[in-house]
Amino acid sequence: MTKNKYAREKRIARKIRSLLLDLMGRKCKICKKKKGPWHLDHKYERTWALKKHSRLDRMKRYLKDWANDNLRVLCPFCNCSDGGKRRWRKHVRSNVR
Ligand SMILES: [Zn+2]
Repeated sequence: MTKNKYAREKRIARKIRSLLLDLMGRKCKICKKKKGPWHLDHKYERTWALKKHSRLDRMKRYLKDWANDNLRVLCPFCNCSDGGKRRWRKHVRSNVR
């Protein structure tokens, strides 16, 4: 991929992410906190492998998952503590008072 194309994809991906946040509301689904940063989290299982896709392709999939009601907005803390089935680092506490 050329540098320019990469930069463009990055920009579009960022736009889609921002659009998704607008659609779902910039608020954590669990603790209702209104301050970012936000994580896009799948309610159910993600059916595709993150690593196999470019940033833009991932965002397109997120959009599709949102349309299928399989996406929500979480703050990093809730995302990390959610279910524990995912291996996030335990001490991401930068946004917790
Ligand atoms: Zn939260």
